[in-house]
Amino acid sequence: MAIPFRRTSKAKRDSRRAHTKLSAPTMVVCPNCGELTLSHMVCKKCGFYKGKLVLAPKPEKTDKEKK
Ligand SMILES: [Zn+2]
Repeated sequence: MAIPFRRTSKAKRDSRRAHTKLSAPTMVVCPNCGELTLSHMVCKKCGFYKGKLVLAPKPEKTDKEKK
């Protein structure tokens, strides 16, 4: 396999990576419970999507279960 003729300069390397960045996920406020959730996803807190209960919410964990 061929090897690079010249070492890539810092400027070339960094400018190539300038477009590589993380983007924050789009969050919306759940109309049912007011929690921030991912858009187009079932609300993880109340299990509602498009005004319907589609996923039974998990019972809240007690302090003993968390440890
Ligand atoms: Zn919700």
